[in-house]
Amino acid sequence: MRAAPSAPSVRATTKSTPPSPPWPPSTPPAGLPPPGPRTAQVVVIDPAHDADAITTAIAGRTLRAILCTHAHNDHINAAPTLSARTGAPIHLHPADEVLWKLTHPTYPPGRHLSHGAELTVAGVRLKVIHTPGHAPGAVCFYVPELGTVFTGDTLFNGGPGATGRSYSDFDTIVTSIRDRLLTLPSRTQVLTGHGDSTLIESEAKAIDELLAGRR
Ligand SMILES: [Zn+2]
Ligand SMILES: [Zn+2]
Repeated sequence: MRAAPSAPSVRATTKSTPPSPPWPPSTPPAGLPPPGPRTAQVVVIDPAHDADAITTAIAGRTLRAILCTHAHNDHINAAPTLSARTGAPIHLHPADEVLWKLTHPTYPPGRHLSHGAELTVAGVRLKVIHTPGHAPGAVCFYVPELGTVFTGDTLFNGGPGATGRSYSDFDTIVTSIRDRLLTLPSRTQVLTGHGDSTLIESEAKAIDELLAGRR
């Protein structure tokens, strides 16, 4: 079990949008609202607990998307407030809608995430990796340009996320991690939903040891 949830993950990109597209753009990018007049854009991953603190961290930049790694309460409970406040759509894998409704029965997420989908924010590409196991609709967000993957509760420093509760499955999470995360470049930084960050290569060793111990 993990202890108290860490602070909400707010990751900002500070790149300026290229000056070339006209303002307002005639065709906004698919899946995202049109960029605002400010040049700096951000995404928020797993807004939890304190919408005011997240709004402060956004610091006036344009929130382009609210991305949910999965729909456990401690990752999404501030999402509707933040979405209503900013107009940014909430993105969730549809397999987690059953969990979403336990926390937000009357406020559906606006957008579906799917494996292999890509979102570009401030010129930085985020790739969606579906990693079921901790939750059926758990996803990770891989940002090749930053050499970083955001893993939510799928992969922690020290091994897989918990699979003891409803809708979780140990074999499924191990398959997801082996086939879809440990195949990323070994030096990829892993920013987890709780606790310390780690590297893909460190977790490859941890998974080997864990599986060896269960045989
Ligand atoms: Zn969780
Ligand atoms: Zn969690």
